[in-house]
Amino acid sequence: MIFIKSGDELERMRRAGRAVARAHELLAGLIKPGVRTSQLDEAVYSFFMKEGVIPSFKGYQGFPASICTSVNEVVVHGIPGDRVLREGDIIGIDIGAMVDGFHGDAAVTYGVGEISPEAQRLLDVTKEALYRGIAQARVGNRVSDISHAVQTYVEGSGFSVVRDFVGHGIGTAMHEAPQIPNFGPPGRGPRLRAGMCLAIEPMVNAGTPDVNVLDDGWTVVTRDARLSAHFEHTVAVTEGEPEILTMMDVL
Ligand code: MG
Repeated sequence: MIFIKSGDELERMRRAGRAVARAHELLAGLIKPGVRTSQLDEAVYSFFMKEGVIPSFKGYQGFPASICTSVNEVVVHGIPGDRVLREGDIIGIDIGAMVDGFHGDAAVTYGVGEISPEAQRLLDVTKEALYRGIAQARVGNRVSDISHAVQTYVEGSGFSVVRDFVGHGIGTAMHEAPQIPNFGPPGRGPRLRAGMCLAIEPMVNAGTPDVNVLDDGWTVVTRDARLSAHFEHTVAVTEGEPEILTMMDVL
C-alpha cells in the first residue's frame, strides 16, 4: 500500500525534510581532516535535541547513532565511532529526522580536504544520477522509470549501482512502499501519483556492484574495497515538478 499524503501531511513532511537539510548544512562545515565520525554524530544529535526533532535512525532496529557515517569503501550504514577522517577520504553521511510524526531522509557524500580526481568524479556522477532519478518522479511515470534513469546514467559513466539496497517510500514510517531500486528496465512497478513521497538514493560503486555486510551487522562495504558514494533526497510527487523536501545548500 502506497500512502498518498494530504496537504497537511505534506507540510509536516516539509518540516522533517528541512530539519534533515539544516543538519547536513551544519555538518558540511565540520568535515575536515582530524575529525572523528562520533563528533559528527554528536553535532547532529545536539542540533536535533535543541530543535525538538527526533533522530529517525537512533534505535532503528538497534542502530546506535543519529547518523550513518560511511567512509571510502563503506557503501552505507557505517556506524559513527573513533575513526578519524583523513585528507582525501570521502564520507557518505545519511541523516533521518522525524517531526510531528513524519520522516525526512537525505544523504550526501562529502570529500575530506582535497580528494583525488577519480573520487570527485564518483561523487559528481552519483549526485547527477540522483537528480536524473528525481526528474522521473512525475505523475504518470512508473517507479522503475526512476530506477532506469539512475542505472543507465551510472553505468554509462563507467560505474556500477548497488543491488542489495534500494530507495523507498517515506512518511509516518521511514521505510514505506514502494521500494525504489537503482536498476531495472523502465515502465515497471506502481504508477506515480501526486502526494507520494519517495526517498531516492543511488548507491554507486567505483568497481563492481557487490557488497558485504561486516560483523557489526550494519556496515556495508564494497567487496572489491574500492570507493562507494551515496546521495539521497526525500521527494514529493506533485502535479508539476517533483518537490525536493530535503533541499539544502550542499546538495
Ligand atoms: Mg533512505
